[in-house]
Amino acid sequence: VKRSGKNAFRFFDPALNTHHRERITLENDLRDALGRAEFELHYQPQVSLAQRRIVGLEALLRWNHPVLGSLGPAGFIQVAEELGLIGEISTWVLEQACAQLAQWRHEGHDQLRMSVNLSPFDFDKRDIVSSVTECLERHDLPAGQIELEITESMMMNDSAGVAAKVRALRAAGVSVAIDDFGTGYSALAYLQKFPVSTLKIDRSFVRDLEGPMTNPIISAITGIARGFDLDIVAEGVEQAEQAEALQMLGCDIMQGYYFARPAPAAEVRSWLQQPSM
Ligand code: C2E
Ligand code: CA
Ligand code: CA
Ligand code: CA
Repeated sequence: VKRSGKNAFRFFDPALNTHHRERITLENDLRDALGRAEFELHYQPQVSLAQRRIVGLEALLRWNHPVLGSLGPAGFIQVAEELGLIGEISTWVLEQACAQLAQWRHEGHDQLRMSVNLSPFDFDKRDIVSSVTECLERHDLPAGQIELEITESMMMNDSAGVAAKVRALRAAGVSVAIDDFGTGYSALAYLQKFPVSTLKIDRSFVRDLEGPMTNPIISAITGIARGFDLDIVAEGVEQAEQAEALQMLGCDIMQGYYFARPAPAAEVRSWLQQPSM
């Protein structure tokens, strides 16, 4: 038997080998993606039913890969985090989202809120507070019109001083949302320590809504939001019945395919120009 180390078996497993090669290709392509301007932001509207208009937009990252086409973040964000590329990507996303919001403000849409997703690594290595405030100043944006989305997992491990950074961002007027609220290990104590401004109801809870009936989880979340004076956004609204049920449960702002899919800026501009939805 030829002794060639534990990796020898891998070499003869064609599936693993293909996977390994694909991964290396992806890594190399990802290193070049920013420089080659292959990233793009799509924006998904957040709609107020009461106001019958778009009140906010969530920026969602897309990678226009030269061979594979448009890729969603599920396929590459984690790789970018592992390669240490996420900081640069987040900086680009923030800059792009702020520039776009400033442009829409100049076109008269001056009340819109722009939400940007952050990675846990953004709280580790970089001074997220000054990156954000400098970006706002550069684009002359009111701080409250930018919202940063964080997840419950970022609040659990506070080695990077996430709580202090969230407090500093809030003190600067920046909005902070807890994304996918209720799916992690949310404890009410976190809401004291992390003075966020918005809870986003995860789409797994919205999916279960079938009619105008009571729903204990969504009632609980809206109750928490009222108690802490937080905004609520319901995610993943796909059907009219879900929107109706959410409205009856006290949730006004909604995001989901029922209203609009994430789309490039040009398409969103035409939606913004419609008088009301
Ligand atoms: P998320 O923050 O929970 O974003 C919502 C995801 O749900 C988006 O997927 C959106 O396209 C999708 N979605 C919206 N409405 C509906 C609906 O009605 N039904 C269903 N089934 N899905 C809906 P997307 O764009 O593929 O993003 C996936 C995740 O990637 C995001 O989840 C977010 O965690 C992350 N992500 C996106 N953009 C960025 C970014 O710029 N930076 C970082 N760090 N993460 C990002
Ligand atoms: Ca999000
Ligand atoms: Ca979410
Ligand atoms: Ca999610």
